[in-house]
Amino acid sequence: MADHFARLDSADFPSFEPGTVWLTGAGPGAPGLITLLGYYALGQADVIVYDALVNPKLLAMANPDAETIYAGKRGGKPSPKQADISKTLIEKAGQGLRVLRLKGGDPYMFGRGGEEARTLADAGVKFRIVPGITAGIGGLAYAGIPVTHRDTNHAVIFLTGHDELGGVPQSVDWAAIATAAPVIVMYMAVKHLGSIAAKLMEAGRDGADRVSIVSNAALPQQTVTETSLAAAGTLADSGQVATPAIVVVGPVGQFRDVLDWYSADLRDNELG
Ligand code: SAH
Repeated sequence: MADHFARLDSADFPSFEPGTVWLTGAGPGAPGLITLLGYYALGQADVIVYDALVNPKLLAMANPDAETIYAGKRGGKPSPKQADISKTLIEKAGQGLRVLRLKGGDPYMFGRGGEEARTLADAGVKFRIVPGITAGIGGLAYAGIPVTHRDTNHAVIFLTGHDELGGVPQSVDWAAIATAAPVIVMYMAVKHLGSIAAKLMEAGRDGADRVSIVSNAALPQQTVTETSLAAAGTLADSGQVATPAIVVVGPVGQFRDVLDWYSADLRDNELG
């Protein structure tokens, strides 16, 4: 490939200091959705600790001498303990290495990035946050869904369908969010979609509301399933919905009819 930085010198970037951790978002799906800072960090890192949803093509662009450490869930086995991941980051930084902690989407959006950053801060390890494009915004764009549109919504809610115990989050005020915004964007929500939909309908949300489920967003195998809030649980339980998936409740799904630009002929591109 041609020189990626034809007009950028690495001196233009903030220095990736040895002994520091860059907690970095890889973006959703397509490798091209990483930021310039994230891409720069890939080239500089001595160690890369990455999650399951990070596109492996990004690792292929990394410094070839970098050590890569997988920190995601594999084959249904429990994920490595958060404490162990943080310990690895602290140890590697302590050895004077440049540590790239690469997470899918944005590191602070339902990704435990806040917890990791806090552990680093407590341990006195210097870090930088490199934000990323989150699946609930950028992934939807690949499905022809603008997360806001003046004709439909002036507010949006981001929700996780899972808490740390694996159940529907108890701390969410379902009655409030059911009617607070026309659009609700849900992460990790396929497993409990039936009970989430029931809670929203109980609190006054219309069962006829449109639900769009975007699976494998911004990847060649992306699919979008359309249903209603009342029917969403049965569909999710049928096992026909591929994951990872973002579930969108609300009228913005209708824009797909005209904005669905990510057509079959575009999907072979390596970057997005
Ligand atoms: N930090 C990530 C989210 C981590 S939680 C971000 O900002 O995007 C993991 C959840 O994100 C998945 O269960 C799914 O709901 C969503 N997700 C991540 N990548 C996705 C993709 N390519 N397509 C659809 N959903 C995705």
